[in-house]
Amino acid sequence: MLKVGRVNKKRVFSRIKKLSQIGKTDSGGVTRVALSKEDKKAQELVKKWMTEAGLVVRHDNFGNMIGRKEGAIPDLPAVMLGSHIDSVRNGGSFDGVIGVLAGIEVVHVMKEKGILHDHPIEVVAFCEEEGSRFNDILYGSRGMVGNLDDSSLSKKDHAGITRYDALKQFGFGIDPDKMNESIRYPEEIRVFLEMHIEQGPFLDSNDNPIGIVTAIAGPRSSTFRIKGIPGHAGTVPMYLRKDPMTGASEIISEIERVCKEDPDSKIVGTIGKISSFPGGSNIIPAEVEFTLDLRDENLSRRENSYQRIIDRAKDICEKRDLTFEVLSEIKIDPVPCSKDVVEKIHEVCNAMEIEAPYMISGAGHDAMTMAEITDIGMIFVRCKDGISHQPDESASEEDISLGTEVLLETVLRYV
Ligand SMILES: [Zn+2]
Repeated sequence: MLKVGRVNKKRVFSRIKKLSQIGKTDSGGVTRVALSKEDKKAQELVKKWMTEAGLVVRHDNFGNMIGRKEGAIPDLPAVMLGSHIDSVRNGGSFDGVIGVLAGIEVVHVMKEKGILHDHPIEVVAFCEEEGSRFNDILYGSRGMVGNLDDSSLSKKDHAGITRYDALKQFGFGIDPDKMNESIRYPEEIRVFLEMHIEQGPFLDSNDNPIGIVTAIAGPRSSTFRIKGIPGHAGTVPMYLRKDPMTGASEIISEIERVCKEDPDSKIVGTIGKISSFPGGSNIIPAEVEFTLDLRDENLSRRENSYQRIIDRAKDICEKRDLTFEVLSEIKIDPVPCSKDVVEKIHEVCNAMEIEAPYMISGAGHDAMTMAEITDIGMIFVRCKDGISHQPDESASEEDISLGTEVLLETVLRYV
């Protein structure tokens, strides 16, 4: 069995608690939007911890904070660890944060124990993973892999400030005019490893502290519009109605049926938003719009299910004499984690006698973007009741330190 206990769990957990004080809300949550004064204060603190761990800290021109420790052999590609420290509004203290702090802890432990390494190690706190300020998710990691266009700089926050100005004013030498100089290439990075809270109930409900991510599910998000004939709620008899709301409800039930059909499938479908027009308690609506977010690790299964949902929606609308339209669509392909990384994390868990199930990530992460230029892997840590993006998001000191041990041992297999 591998030796466990090199990680200083008190240090990791007390840092999480300290960071949660920056941007703390009245309800006990955290609001730390990207490039805000809270973000700056948090980055200064994290920079101090990176420096204590022996990392040399710089910012790239996307606003990513990068700590680097050189290895014994020059010019080898870096082993990169990290996540993000921006938060959603009134979010939790653990999302993203544990990945950055675990990365710093790994380097700190290696320094304390005198563990030598050939490859350089980098720990990154990515800028605006959450889309917390400019409503543009995974910004820093997309920048790093060269997947941004100029429009990303002209995006405005709710006060009308552009990202360009926010980056310029943030300090740390960030120069948005020189973004291209900060793009990284496959030959520079050996592997990217991200530890993150699960943000769902799978590990907690199965009583597992740690999970090994095999793929990050890609969402297909659509907005549908159903048109019918509006009317007075009191005067139009049921048999004469062309009611888009009852049509929508039948389609929504059908979506649930399609997603639950195969008990072995990981597909999930969510209708998060529904609007009726004109919208009155005594009016049969003229139109109903609703969203569908469909996710799966398996692209062909997701597309197949989507097509079946569309076919059924059309049938239902035809039968009810309604019209059906797809208004908008965003499609992101699922991203598999690298087989080699998954195997190494699995080996580590076995050696540590941790029963860590394979699982998919339903939420998007910086790792899915980094997969464009390097091998990726993710370690999930159980969070209480699966709650995330809320003030009562919580993960235990024990589980976080166990995840950090697994991260450390995995890093040692790559450096
Ligand atoms: Zn996150």
